[in-house]
Amino acid sequence: AALVLQAMPQRRESFLYRSDSDFEMSPKSMSRNSSIASESHGEDLIVTPFAQVLASLRSVRNNFLCLTNVPVAKSRRSSGAATAVTPQPKNFNPGDEAYMKLALETVEELDWCLDQLETIQTHRSVSDMASLKFKRMLNKELSHFSESSKSGNQISEYICSTFLDKQQELDLPSLQVEESVAERTKKKEKPRHGGPATTMSQITGVKRTLTHTNSFTGERVPRYGVETPHEEELGRLLGEIDRWGVDIFRIGDLSCGRPLTAVAYAAFSSRELLSTLQIPARTFLAFALTLEEHYVRDNPFHNSLHAADVTQSTNVLLNTPALDAVFTPLEVCAALFAACVHDVDHPGLTNQFLVNSSSELALMYNDESVLENHHLAVAFKLLQNDGCDIFVNLHKKQRQTLRKMVIDMVLSTDMSKHMSLLADLKTMVETKKVAGSGVLLLDNYTDRIQVLENLVHCADLSNPTKPLPLYKRWVALLMEEFFQQGDREREQGMDISPMCDRHNATIEKSQVGFIDYIVHPLWETWADLVHPDAQDILDTLEENRDYYQSMIPPSPPPAPAQPHSSDDDRPEQIRFQVTLEEGEGSEECEGEGDGGM
Ligand SMILES: [Zn+2]
Repeated sequence: AALVLQAMPQRRESFLYRSDSDFEMSPKSMSRNSSIASESHGEDLIVTPFAQVLASLRSVRNNFLCLTNVPVAKSRRSSGAATAVTPQPKNFNPGDEAYMKLALETVEELDWCLDQLETIQTHRSVSDMASLKFKRMLNKELSHFSESSKSGNQISEYICSTFLDKQQELDLPSLQVEESVAERTKKKEKPRHGGPATTMSQITGVKRTLTHTNSFTGERVPRYGVETPHEEELGRLLGEIDRWGVDIFRIGDLSCGRPLTAVAYAAFSSRELLSTLQIPARTFLAFALTLEEHYVRDNPFHNSLHAADVTQSTNVLLNTPALDAVFTPLEVCAALFAACVHDVDHPGLTNQFLVNSSSELALMYNDESVLENHHLAVAFKLLQNDGCDIFVNLHKKQRQTLRKMVIDMVLSTDMSKHMSLLADLKTMVETKKVAGSGVLLLDNYTDRIQVLENLVHCADLSNPTKPLPLYKRWVALLMEEFFQQGDREREQGMDISPMCDRHNATIEKSQVGFIDYIVHPLWETWADLVHPDAQDILDTLEENRDYYQSMIPPSPPPAPAQPHSSDDDRPEQIRFQVTLEEGEGSEECEGEGDGGM
């Protein structure tokens, strides 16, 4: 069940590979960067700190062999890594210019490694090192982007507040304007989301009465899981369920508004999961219809069509040849199940909105991954409905494992976890690359769930990788959902969230920023993992990015610094800053704005 890593091709690279960053680079990678244009990517660039240390130590070892001519017993290092390297047997004479040069370079390289290792603290893992570095790089990118124009500012604010978690939240001392008493009172009175107060021990939004299970209490289980007059055509489309870019909107129409049930049933049946895990078809459909019923139909974006889309995309990614035979049926089932339930009972509002409005849900989950916790609670509660427990025939141990995996995967769909997920995946890929074996063993839970979490996260962020007509429809739907939240914020006298003001939106440019800073770095790393399987997906993503780039309306040049207008408290420029846990002030990504650390 190991995954073989293939050599990487040459292609467009994300900002994570940008060479003008002033982050700690090993002397080796610096020289590599400086010659990158002429060498045309002769050597793979390594960007995660742990893999960089490994690569450097490797080169120190080779230099040492060159300098000393020590005979090496091959058995000392048995990993494929050491044997793959054959240091060129040069005859150096101590005192030669070349000898001294190599010796100095080696010491420099070793010093760099020591510096890196010294910054590792017991509470800061390899994974934290990588995510902190990526977050700082993203912050730096965003602070430049935000200075480019007013819309750039809004887009940066959106990306920052959505995809970076709290420790990295932007620090905007200048925004903390004294509120007038009147404003404060007004805000206190605002109605809260969540309807009538419910006791904390109850899971909100779970309806017991089911309107659809009745539809097949008879003999016949519908062929494709849903009652529809278009069975034949639906069947034809579901036959394409393994294809990236199937017309999911059409499946929505043909399934009479039950795309999630149709897609989930097709995916589970075609993988024979129903028989392998002894899930009765009726139970499966009772659960799927109940689940679908609990997606909010009125949400423009976060409705059951999005869940069907993510489930179908997850299904395709699980089929990727590189992952063939890597995951067990239970893991495949968990991933598909996680995709199905990952947004159930989504209120069409963001985590930030729920937190800022002191909603019942935010109180229930202490502001931490509020929606994702809720989706999970609702999903597992629905399994308890009569005739809905699709896992009834699993052993206790299997149920426990499956539940843990589903919880891990759905919690990692919280977009504020994005950078940590990405950093871990990239570290994993690069470490194996440097170690030279080119094989990911995936022989422990942590590694396996990490790949699955990223797989579902990729599926959740797959709209920009789909054929352009589908992508454009998704963009329109998501923007409408954002705008509806913005309308609500306006009505309630709250600050309008970035990208949520329908009178002040920059859709095309925000898609370009979203792809450049979030979607492309993720898919690029996924494509490394499963290379060359995801090349077509990456190509489509890059074409779509170029399309939106070409659609950006010409904008007025960035406004010169002016006194703030009375109806807008926002400064012209927003500075982004990473808040570090420890007092390493020198590591702020921007030298400016040292307040608020
Ligand atoms: Zn989602």
